[in-house]
Amino acid sequence: MSKVLIVGAGIGGLTLAAGLKQRGLDVTVVERAPAFKPVGAGISLQPNATAVLLALDIPLSEAAAAVMGPASFTDAAGRAFMNADASELVTEEAPAWNVHRADLHRALLEACGERSGAARGGAVTLRLGTAVASLEERGDEVAVTFEDGSAGAWSLVIGADGLSSTVREALLGDAGPRVRYSGQTCWRFAASTSVTRESSVEIWAPGKRAGLIQLSEGRIYCYLVASAPEGTPGPGSNEVAMLREQFGWMNPDLETLLSELTPETVVHHGDLCDLDGATWGRGRVVLMGDAAHAVQPNMGQGAAMAIEDAGALTLLITEHLSEPSGLVSAFQSAREARVREVWGLSWRIGQVAHWENPLARAVRNLALRSMPTSMMLKKAAESWQPGIDIARSLRA
Ligand SMILES: Cc1cc2nc3c(=O)[nH]c(=O)nc-3n(C[C@H](O)[C@H](O)[C@H](O)COP(=O)(O)OP(=O)(O)OC[C@H]3O[C@@H](n4cnc5c(N)ncnc54)[C@H](O)[C@@H]3O)c2cc1C
Repeated sequence: MSKVLIVGAGIGGLTLAAGLKQRGLDVTVVERAPAFKPVGAGISLQPNATAVLLALDIPLSEAAAAVMGPASFTDAAGRAFMNADASELVTEEAPAWNVHRADLHRALLEACGERSGAARGGAVTLRLGTAVASLEERGDEVAVTFEDGSAGAWSLVIGADGLSSTVREALLGDAGPRVRYSGQTCWRFAASTSVTRESSVEIWAPGKRAGLIQLSEGRIYCYLVASAPEGTPGPGSNEVAMLREQFGWMNPDLETLLSELTPETVVHHGDLCDLDGATWGRGRVVLMGDAAHAVQPNMGQGAAMAIEDAGALTLLITEHLSEPSGLVSAFQSAREARVREVWGLSWRIGQVAHWENPLARAVRNLALRSMPTSMMLKKAAESWQPGIDIARSLRA
């Protein structure tokens, strides 16, 4: 019997599975989706995330990973209030990449599969179309029931099943943190286009934001955010026309990109939510990634937190597997302060970016413009260090 069950084959669950396999453990991963579809938009992987991925032997091919170049934040008139180029801080051990989510998923699945020449690899058993329905701790095992009526028991269960985690609900019910709406809804897509960008840009307008990020192979990742009541439905078939009207005016490249979209482009739409607190699990059930502490996407650090969690858990599970009673508290001690900081700042950035009051916006822009670049870069380097430290422990 595999001793470890990971619930959810998202970025966090698969990174952990690859890490435990690297340490020689056999793990089972169950995933609700019946198949992995090669869709999705882009994602930024900052050095704290890439350092852990590389330490776990999860590389991305040059064709998949676009090196993250300079970035600017502007108003809708194109006036920059922040420019940053972190290239000089980036190392081979911890690069900065913009990638298509499908390419990242492929790399994670490959790392979970056969590795030729692996001297001491465990095995990952992946069961698609298998959703956890409930679980219960019974002595030194966790009894798990699946939605198809099957059941099993594991020594350790990891809930990596995202924002609306069933594992969190089964374990904590109303005592767990709740999903919190930010007041903002988001459309995102990745598309091949004639637009080429040397630098990423995020444009702020009252109650709106738009981002353009260059991916590999001539694709641009675009996200569009608007202040809106919770559950505002997508406009369906008129989606692209509506996006063009609402956001196209904010930037000429954005207008071109939206005008070039074909009916094949999949536009993802969803409300931006986080959890109103963090939780780490109990006993033999550990929660990680969005299931434990979903953050707003405004720092591009949600998946990075799941990846850092996976790195930290790879070390801790190896240490605690024979006696897991101290695992949850060791994991919480290792991660709580780090995650809390990212969670709080991610929320505040989203709120400040959508300010509508003209005076407040003018003061904000002035404050941001007067921040020295050297200070911004220093803060960025400091914010990456915890992930780089986890990666160095994994390599030690
Ligand atoms: C608009 C937007 C932009 C973002 N941009 C970035 C970025 O640039 N950089 C970054 O680092 N982060 C970013 N993030 C955050 C990032 O996407 C998430 O933090 C990350 O995907 C969380 O990974 P996870 O593995 O914890 O959960 P998920 O990715 O949600 O994976 C959970 C998995 O569990 C499965 N599952 C759910 N329930 C069950 C069940 N009962 N049984 C079995 N399986 C189940 C799901 O199908 C899913 O595959 C962004 C988020 C958003 C919304």
